[in-house]
Amino acid sequence: MSALEAVDARLDRMRGDAPPRNHDARSIAALTTNPGCKRRALLDAAGADKAQIARFLGHPPHFGQSQFAITRGNAFEATVKSDGCAPLYGLLRDKLGLPVPESEYADLEEVGGNVSREVRYARTKQLLKRAVEGEGTLFDHPLLRIEVGGHPVYLEPDVIAFRFEGAFHIIEIKSFPIVDGRANPEQVAAAARQSAVYVLALRLLMTELGYDESLVADRVVLVCPENFTNRPTATLVDVRQQLGVIRRQLQRMQRIDELLDALPEDVTFAMDEGLGESVQRIEARYEPGCRTHCDLSLYCRAEARACGSTDQLGRQIGDQLGGITRVDKALDIARGADPEDEALEEVAGELQEAYRLLAEIAR
Ligand code: SF4
Repeated sequence: MSALEAVDARLDRMRGDAPPRNHDARSIAALTTNPGCKRRALLDAAGADKAQIARFLGHPPHFGQSQFAITRGNAFEATVKSDGCAPLYGLLRDKLGLPVPESEYADLEEVGGNVSREVRYARTKQLLKRAVEGEGTLFDHPLLRIEVGGHPVYLEPDVIAFRFEGAFHIIEIKSFPIVDGRANPEQVAAAARQSAVYVLALRLLMTELGYDESLVADRVVLVCPENFTNRPTATLVDVRQQLGVIRRQLQRMQRIDELLDALPEDVTFAMDEGLGESVQRIEARYEPGCRTHCDLSLYCRAEARACGSTDQLGRQIGDQLGGITRVDKALDIARGADPEDEALEEVAGELQEAYRLLAEIAR
């Protein structure tokens, strides 16, 4: 068994009987927002269902798309991709000037009835190689691959890469509206982060094929409904900044095999009475931002509170507190206790000054 197969087998054992959940661009973009969290890295690498685990542990996640939003999103995507992506072609021609003869379409959701990831990835590579050499422009459901913590994961995007002006572009279809030429900046930023993951994965594929990564554009085509109608409109979004952040964070992530080596064999994510203990044995790095991107956030927040960790206050305050990792110790020092560590003297002075000012205001 190769080292990679051994890691996969161990992750499968950890997941127990549950089917694996695939990474998607959203989960990878979220992963890089808290790259130091070993708990999340391992849960995601094992393909564990974090929302289910959080529910089982009594802290159900409180975010996620509503059923209405999911249905609306699927309906919009189906409209854009109907008739072999005919509406999308029209849009790309009108908005970006894609020439008519360039319009060729291939759906890679399956390959001759085979839906295995390896086969779909191999077919994606093959067709993109042909496209670089001049044949074919538009690929629906290309399967891409990226390394997370030294472990390859497949991405199953419902995006399309198309060739235009010599470069491949990622197309991201979103159901939030563009009203009078403007969209919600937070939604656009989230779409840009996810698209950047696809751009990176497509660039890796090009490099694997021996081509230059600049063959993949760092501007993506965002397709959204216009003015609350079902009519799609396209905008080019520059994702260079997001691309840089995601690339850096992925490089900094600890390797999954190293994390596994440090973990006792009996740690598993099986839904039984040992789950809570198993999860607690994997180091977490809670911060308030977890609430917007991780299904386990309410569980981890309760854990951080229960042990009085300064993590619950956020990374910025944690950094300001230097080496003080417990809230009660910070409060004791603020009230005048000796920090018992020379390195903490400056922080202690600031805490005591802040406490004095607070007491003055409260008077
Ligand atoms: S919520 Fe918990 S598991 Fe998720 S990233 Fe934050 S600390 Fe890690």
